[in-house]
Amino acid sequence: MMMRETKPTLAVHKFSSCDGCQLALLNLGEALLELPNYLEIVHFAEAGPSDPTAHVDLALVEGSISTPEDIERIRQVRKNSDYLISIGACATAGGIQALRNLADAAAWMAALYPHPEQIEILPESGAIAAHVKVDLELPGCPVNSNQLLRALRDLLNGVEPVRERRALCMECKRQGLVCTLVSSGQPCLGPVTLAGCGALCPSQGRGCYGCYGPVESVHHESLAQRFSELGLDQAASARRFLFIQGGAPTFAEAGVRLRARAAEEE
Ligand code: SF4
Ligand code: SF4
Repeated sequence: MMMRETKPTLAVHKFSSCDGCQLALLNLGEALLELPNYLEIVHFAEAGPSDPTAHVDLALVEGSISTPEDIERIRQVRKNSDYLISIGACATAGGIQALRNLADAAAWMAALYPHPEQIEILPESGAIAAHVKVDLELPGCPVNSNQLLRALRDLLNGVEPVRERRALCMECKRQGLVCTLVSSGQPCLGPVTLAGCGALCPSQGRGCYGCYGPVESVHHESLAQRFSELGLDQAASARRFLFIQGGAPTFAEAGVRLRARAAEEE
């Protein structure tokens, strides 16, 4: 984003989501109060300003693309935004609602709604990047407030934000945390999950469930082997991958493979 006399403009858009990532932005505390000194917030319905069709320098997009209407709207948002950041697991991988991608969505809707025929959905809940060009993805459920703030600061200073590529294990090591997988014997997805959350779950003694999504190469076989030594069967291992980031292609592939093997063993 270019530095200039007038303040750059910001829009925050919501698609299929729970609003938790917008709350992560609202939870910035003092930094949020300072934000209007550097950015003009023209659209952020959850916080007040509403101008969804405004052309802006920067758009933050929460939520997945789940309906035909979402496709039309995200194309419009892209057209109206110079730089677009997708925030959260929904926007970067389809979110928890992508669980239906591997299920019989029509049967689920019939079980839940009295008039499912009135609901129009896409066959899959997908990432923003599957439909339009995305300049930066910040995953997580929800997105990490500090990571988001860092990206905004970088852009305001004319610097391209750094893309995180390291695994969560790096954050545990940096913080000197006891390894949940090796030492505490918990099925932790840290070795195959992107860093960025500050090792939130391991710092509380819990294994990671992968909400930041997959690193570049996911060696799911060796991890599933370790999970099995810890007492998880193939079906339970599969569910670990097919969870919040189950819509991310590498996690989906790993989960489906483990699930198929579990079915063969039955
Ligand atoms: S990524 Fe998580 S917190 Fe963010 S909108 Fe989706 S479900 Fe909510
Ligand atoms: S440790 Fe894993 S599940 Fe927990 S917040 Fe971080 S990425 Fe998400």
